[in-house]
Amino acid sequence: MHIKNSEQLFQRAQKSIPGGVNSPVRAFKSVGGNPIFIQKAKGAYLYDEDGNAYIDYIASWGPMILGHAYEPVIKAIQEKAAFSTSFGAPTQLEIEMAELIISMVPNVDLIRMVSSGTEACMSALRLARGYTGKNKFIKFEGCYHGHADAFLVKAGSGVATFNIQTVPGIPAAVSDDTLTCAYNDLNAVEKLVAAHPNEIAAIIVEPVAGNMGCILPEQGFLEGLRKICTQHNIVLIFDEVMTGFRLAAGGAQQRLSIDADLITYGKVIGAGMPVGAFGGKKEIMQHIAPLGNVYQAGTLSGNPIAMIAGFTLLTELKNNPAIYKELDDKTTYLHKGLDEVFAASKTPYTINRLGSMISVHFSNKPVTNFETAAAANNDLFKKYFHAMLKRGIYLPPSPFESWFLNNALTYADLDKTIAASKESLQEIL
Ligand code: PMP
Repeated sequence: MHIKNSEQLFQRAQKSIPGGVNSPVRAFKSVGGNPIFIQKAKGAYLYDEDGNAYIDYIASWGPMILGHAYEPVIKAIQEKAAFSTSFGAPTQLEIEMAELIISMVPNVDLIRMVSSGTEACMSALRLARGYTGKNKFIKFEGCYHGHADAFLVKAGSGVATFNIQTVPGIPAAVSDDTLTCAYNDLNAVEKLVAAHPNEIAAIIVEPVAGNMGCILPEQGFLEGLRKICTQHNIVLIFDEVMTGFRLAAGGAQQRLSIDADLITYGKVIGAGMPVGAFGGKKEIMQHIAPLGNVYQAGTLSGNPIAMIAGFTLLTELKNNPAIYKELDDKTTYLHKGLDEVFAASKTPYTINRLGSMISVHFSNKPVTNFETAAAANNDLFKKYFHAMLKRGIYLPPSPFESWFLNNALTYADLDKTIAASKESLQEIL
């Protein structure tokens, strides 16, 4: 595999962009080596600047549920772009988008568009604080809710990948109100809530965590959070930036039958365009400006190109529920195939999966939270990542990320992935 052009581009990129990338995990720093520069993508495949093809298990970190350059989405964007790229004034399409999401997702009476998952989570937290009049909130170790100050405490994704313990630039006055517990540890949540009576505004959680690998909620965990929140007037925020419209048309709330008070979305609802949103129960959402005084705004919020891209994708997902069964079947097939080759290799491993989210951990202990994800043999993951990349399989470049399947993947692609895994394990063990 030649990567000469990527190498040259990375040298050039580092002269004008910090670390050569616009988002840290892309730098491959944690897995070693230099990043591959992508030129284009179609269906399940990425193509780099040297003409190499890769089967893509990142799916732009979630949104490419139907594969890259999905024709109805591209066509809709092209048509909409001819009418200008932004107005800064209301459009009919924004109503249609809000109505569509409300029709698909439980517990969303009102929804506000923003431009990223970070903004969505940051705004939902402000709203929860403004609504309850309380300042503290609970998040879980290894969960990632974007890069707003309050969330960068024991965060997952790149913060975990780069092992950053304390992020410089965040005043203690801000991070002191962020309380953390281990994922799946309901007892710890109960203790924290008891230790801070009438101080906790919100509990924010990834209902299926995707930022420390893929970590499933244990039976009773989310149910317990729901109960605690109701008992103590705490706003339960489901961060569905990854799980929304992926685990089911109605997201994790629908798939796991749990009601949240506020729900945040990101990249998926823009089909890969820069979009996010937060929505939820009217009683809470009506405190957002201009209805209420919790201020939140955005020049590009509800951008017409982003809206038409997301609207087109979500409409397909709504009208064709068989997509979820197909995605689940494909992921089950991959899971089974990986299980066989990993078991045969005799290396300790654990595979976690729900729906089309899956991750492999080099550990034979159950991986249920950040501590157990971090305790895996992550040096071996690095070798596995490069061995797979060399064989044309593009995995997330960190053990602290979920893999995302897309429905353009064929069973032949999955077979190729399983065979590449077998060869990779033979090479690295
Ligand atoms: N929440 C979750 C669960 C995420 O996975 C991410 C990003 N991967 C975010 C929030 C932040 O989204 P963005 O990068 O669009 O700001």
